[in-house]
Amino acid sequence: MVILKGLKIAVISWLLTVCFTSVNVIGAKWYQQKINIMGTTAKVELWSENETAASMAIQDVFAAMEHVNATMIPYIETSELYKINKRASQMPMKISTELFQLLEYAIDMSLLSNGAFDITFSSVGYLYNYREHVAPSATTIKNLKNAINYRWVKLESSPQTIFFKNPNVKIDLGGIAKGYAVDEGIKALKARGIKHALVNAGGDSRIIGDRMGRPWYIGIKHPRNLSKVASKLPLVNVAVSTSGDYERFFEKNGVRYHHIIDPKTGSSSKNSQSVTIIADTSTYADALSTSVFVLGVEEGLKLVNGLDDVSAVIIDAQGKLHYSDDLVMQTQ
Ligand code: AMP
Ligand code: MG
Repeated sequence: MVILKGLKIAVISWLLTVCFTSVNVIGAKWYQQKINIMGTTAKVELWSENETAASMAIQDVFAAMEHVNATMIPYIETSELYKINKRASQMPMKISTELFQLLEYAIDMSLLSNGAFDITFSSVGYLYNYREHVAPSATTIKNLKNAINYRWVKLESSPQTIFFKNPNVKIDLGGIAKGYAVDEGIKALKARGIKHALVNAGGDSRIIGDRMGRPWYIGIKHPRNLSKVASKLPLVNVAVSTSGDYERFFEKNGVRYHHIIDPKTGSSSKNSQSVTIIADTSTYADALSTSVFVLGVEEGLKLVNGLDDVSAVIIDAQGKLHYSDDLVMQTQ
């Protein structure tokens, strides 16, 4: 089992407060609800003393997620992202503050990851259809690859506009939007005073507090046997995101075509099978899990080990587990 160093302290300090907490929780219980959204299942689990309060809090989370989805879904004509891809290469286009800020964050992540995270991957990436087993030809990739470069995206702040300096650029926030939606959900729960909860959307989860006396256990799927767990992480008050090459993929002529694109090649990254990141927010963990997946073990661990309060579990291309320096291995 893997134990986070700081977690032991968190668990001990929780034990000191458990008696006090339990006085206040008579009649309280866990509430859980799921919906299908953003191409995945989203789940909220929270501790509340009151069913109506729990239900209202859960509805707030799903409303926040619906809003993120409606703004950032790439293939629905009414979404702001769809309109950007349609028009931003013609002239600077005014966009909402919310999207502007997330786009700025995405560009910062490109700089941090040395271009491994790049929302313009979609300039080629939009041509993959994993359900229909379609991949762009080598010639198409060659012709469009130059459009994959976050430097083509020009953000101006007053007024807040976006402009693509290359007509072939398309952007997609699939590598960060679910994490952002989870953070928005957590914000809604905190605004309602919720102290113990988990919000999850696909591979992205964030936790408030502990699970009443225990840590939350988040499993990392075995990338080649999805009914198995490769590792289990006991976590308190953090965000955790996993990027895996098994989420959306097909195989053709022995090649695995999956949804995480190496911006350098325009093809699916061959550097990892799965990457899990633990960080303070889901937006950060989500963007980093995609980044480290593309970077692979050596560069990925170098990045993570240099960041404050970020941990990583990487399953490399051969299926071997690697941990960031702050994670302590314990065999039990
Ligand atoms: P995740 O599961 O968080 O790694 O997100 C995967 C999604 O991120 C894909 O479905 C794409 O929408 C998007 N994506 C793929 N490759 C990249 C990349 N190199 N940089 C940023 N986003 C990407
Ligand atoms: Mg991600």
